[in-house]
Order: sequence, then C-alpha cells, then structure tokens
Amino acid sequence: MLIVLQSGASQKTIDQVVKRIEELGLRAHLSQGKFRTIIGAIGEENIAFRDQLRSIEGVEDVVPIMRPYKLASRDFHPENSFVQVGNVKIGGGGYALIAGPCAVEDRQICHEIAKAVKENGANMLRGGAFKPRTSPYSFQGLQEEGLKILRECSEQYGLPVVTEVTDPRNVELVGRYADMLQVGARNMQNFVLLSEVGKANKPVLLKRGPSSTVKDWLMSAEYILSEGNNQVVLCERGSQGFETEMRFTLDVGAIALAKCDSHLPIIVDPSHAAGRRDLVIRLALAGIAAGADGLIVEVHTCPEKAKCDGPQALTANMFAELMQQVKQFV
Ligand code: PEP
Ligand code: MN
Repeated sequence: MLIVLQSGASQKTIDQVVKRIEELGLRAHLSQGKFRTIIGAIGEENIAFRDQLRSIEGVEDVVPIMRPYKLASRDFHPENSFVQVGNVKIGGGGYALIAGPCAVEDRQICHEIAKAVKENGANMLRGGAFKPRTSPYSFQGLQEEGLKILRECSEQYGLPVVTEVTDPRNVELVGRYADMLQVGARNMQNFVLLSEVGKANKPVLLKRGPSSTVKDWLMSAEYILSEGNNQVVLCERGSQGFETEMRFTLDVGAIALAKCDSHLPIIVDPSHAAGRRDLVIRLALAGIAAGADGLIVEVHTCPEKAKCDGPQALTANMFAELMQQVKQFV
C-alpha cells in the first residue's frame, strides 16, 4: 500500500509512519517529491494495517495497490525512471543501442565485432560468457576467459558491456567484469538469482521469459527492486507463439503495456524473437515505435562461423542499416 502524507508533512510524521510500518513487519520505501512524500509499505498487508496507518496524524490517505508489484509500478513512481550504465542513459529520453555476438567465442573475433558495432553507432556491447543452452553438449561459453575478453573490448572501444549471469554463485564474478548484469529469459523466475542480483550494486537487464505474462515479469523485477537495487531495465525478447517460421513471437503489446504499468526502462531484443536476421530490422523498429528505450541485437562479422545463434546475427552492414533507420527515431 502507499501512504500519502499531507503536503508539507514534518520529518517527525515521516519517522512515525516508517516506524509503524516496520513494527507491522513491513518494509518502508520513501519517495519524496517536491510537494508530497509518499511511503510505500512492502510486504503482506491487510485492512487493519491500512486503518492503523491512516489513523496517524499527518497521513492524508492510504491507497491499497491491487497490483502485486509495487516498486516496479507507475503508481509508486509516476515518472519514467532511467538507468545509467557508464556513459549510457537508458530510459528518460536516453536510448541503449546494444550490439555484439551471442557468445564470446574468441578474442580476435570479439574485437572485430566490437569495433564494427562501435563504428556503426552502438553505445554498448553485449556478449555471453556463460551461455544457457538447451543442450548440455552445446557450447557453454568461455566463462571467466570470456568475461576478460569482454572487459578488454569494452575498454578498448569505449562501450559499457552487458553479459548474462546464470548462477547466483557467479554474480560477484560476473559483476567484476561487467557494467550490467543480464538475467536471461530462462532465468526470469530464478528467484534466488533475482535476489542475488538485487543485492549487487550493478544495473540489471531483466529479460522476459518466453511464456511469462507482463505481470510475472514485473513481479520478477520486484524481487530485484525489493532487495534495494533500483537499476532495472526490462527487455522483451519474444514469447512462445504458434508461428513456426520465427523462433518466438515479438510481443510488441507487452512493450506498450509494461511502459504504461511500470516506470522502468524497457528495451527490445528482436534477434531472439525472430531467430533469423532478415526480420530483425523490422522488429527492432516496431519495438522502438511501441515505446522501447533502446535495443539489444546480435551482430557477427562472420555468422557462418558463430558457435551460437549465427542465423539471427546481423552482419556489420545490416547493423549499419539498422542504425541508420533507428536514428530517425531516437
Ligand atoms: C542471449 O541474450 O544471448 C540470450 C540467451 O537471450 P534469451 O535469454 O532472451 O534467450
Ligand atoms: Mn543468443
């Protein structure tokens, strides 16, 4: 629930409300605007709690929130929030243009790709060092060696880097090399991992699970936010559909919906949605038109040699074409 204080409420009132919230076994999150202070009470609430809090002198209203997520909700934070990753502002008018290989495969290739995407207008680098693969026999990523290569490319080309963390035990390790931690679609409801990245002092890119509703997705964001990490960026990457010619179905409606219901920035991943490079530019533009604050795309300078997701990787020329088109909108 949200406790709305009377305008000009004193610090004493704020302290009293926070104390009572904590006594009730809830957690208080303060949002101090120019004219109003709103205090979010996080945890199991009931009507008795609401009435007790409303009885405190200086409290104007107590608004129950029907939506199960609170910190991720626009009710709690009406303005668009933004997340800063190095010199890149995502949301609040800033766009993330993230590009790179699906997986870091080799030092030289990674340098080649990073250079190509930088020259063509990317402002962040992506690349997987820990790959969540459907088959245990597929390439699993170079792990720490891959992280080192990513860091090196990040420094050399001036591109903050986002990379996936698949295991709660590796959050510290990945955080040592990455500027932003990616929680992949398959791990969207790995609640232990979500809590762990919530404790890390790093921006998080939270992908939507292929069969998850927008509400479930925002509940997962809530896990991260409720641990105290408010640097969360959402990413739509396609849902499980019935179309067989595409890997997934890009859910443009989910981008618009998440934008309406949540203040969090959101970006679009057209690569994993399409599964084939000839659709990627159109889907990227559709995502931006629906309100996305940027995109994350897979690019490879030699897709025929890629160890992972080659068919959906844009060539450097296609990425240049995408950037030309995107620049009309961002
Ligand atoms: C990826 O970004 O390479 C990836 C595995 O994405 P997703 O989790 O969306 O499948
Ligand atoms: Mn991939």
